[in-house]
Amino acid sequence: MSGEVWVYSESEAVASEVATAADDVAKGASAHVRMVDISSLRPTTRGSGARLLLKGPPSPEVSPAVAAEALARAARELAPLAILLGATRDGREAASRLAAKLGVGCMAEVAGLASDGQGMTGERDVFAGKVVAKVRCRFPAVATVKVGAYPRAVAQPADAQEKDVGPIPDQTKTLGREKKQAGSVDLRSAKVIVSAGRGVKKKEDLAILAELATAMRGALGCSRPLSSDLGWLPEEHHIGLTGVTVKPDLYLAVGISGQLQHVAGMKDSKIVASINTDKDAPIFQASDYGIVGDLYQVVPALRRALAARR
Ligand SMILES: Cc1cc2nc3c(=O)[nH]c(=O)nc-3n(C[C@H](O)[C@H](O)[C@H](O)COP(=O)(O)OP(=O)(O)OC[C@H]3O[C@@H](n4cnc5c(N)ncnc54)[C@H](O)[C@@H]3O)c2cc1C
Repeated sequence: MSGEVWVYSESEAVASEVATAADDVAKGASAHVRMVDISSLRPTTRGSGARLLLKGPPSPEVSPAVAAEALARAARELAPLAILLGATRDGREAASRLAAKLGVGCMAEVAGLASDGQGMTGERDVFAGKVVAKVRCRFPAVATVKVGAYPRAVAQPADAQEKDVGPIPDQTKTLGREKKQAGSVDLRSAKVIVSAGRGVKKKEDLAILAELATAMRGALGCSRPLSSDLGWLPEEHHIGLTGVTVKPDLYLAVGISGQLQHVAGMKDSKIVASINTDKDAPIFQASDYGIVGDLYQVVPALRRALAARR
């Protein structure tokens, strides 16, 4: 094996987080990190200075299946110790295909990565975050790194080595593209999140929570039913096990019951405050501060209190 830990993600931002995780693995394994690009070199890829450009697959978009095949072809020849991908939708698919192609272990959605030189260990949430499992894979291995779990690595000057992996036919056909709805948010970097749940009676009422979020210089999030079932907000607002994982300074849960699938996505917030009419709602167990009350009274009162302070 080559003593390298490879990093690949279709998202530059995620790749730079994965690079930080890869540093921890490389340190324990006395290896070094190499950022991998496929088809075209990204101008601003962050992380380690060492880079590898895999040429062959058609540019500019690389499907998870093609990424897996390109990485597998290169890995068979260059034999890295480990290949780390971001646990994005595409990254999860690419990693599982890649591990199967190489016949190696795959650790899914891990954080807290480390290495003893023989393999790597990672920590992953199970039972919706109630339990943290420690998992281990012998080298060579593949892993997907939990998005948002690591800070982004600092940009470094990059020299790229090229490797031609040959043409890879893409069996995925793109039938069309739609722009994401305007107003999409980056909840992962928000310092304050006001999050709406089923306690909100109708879509129009989200406006009072959006106003509160703006007044607090924060972003609007939601529980899954509001995006996935009701379609009141785009998917990227949905927080939890199947949505975004966030850790803002302040998370204000409004009309959210606090089922463990939701709590899994916000439990690492610095301060959690909740508004709920039900004093026994489980969200209060996960909260530092709780207001038992009707959001239609409490939220306007908070708005007035904030306005009075200005
Ligand atoms: C496999 C799987 C994955 C899932 N993943 C996620 C996920 O990632 N994220 C997620 O959020 N959910 C997820 N869910 C759904 C989850 O189990 C819950 O159903 C969901 O979180 C409930 O959303 P809620 O709290 O908004 O609604 P509810 O559980 O209906 O709670 C509404 C709350 O609002 C309160 N309320 C009512 N009126 C008012 C009022 N006027 N003022 C104040 N409070 C009021 C009620 O007391 C209640 O506590 C998942 C479920 C499954 C099965």
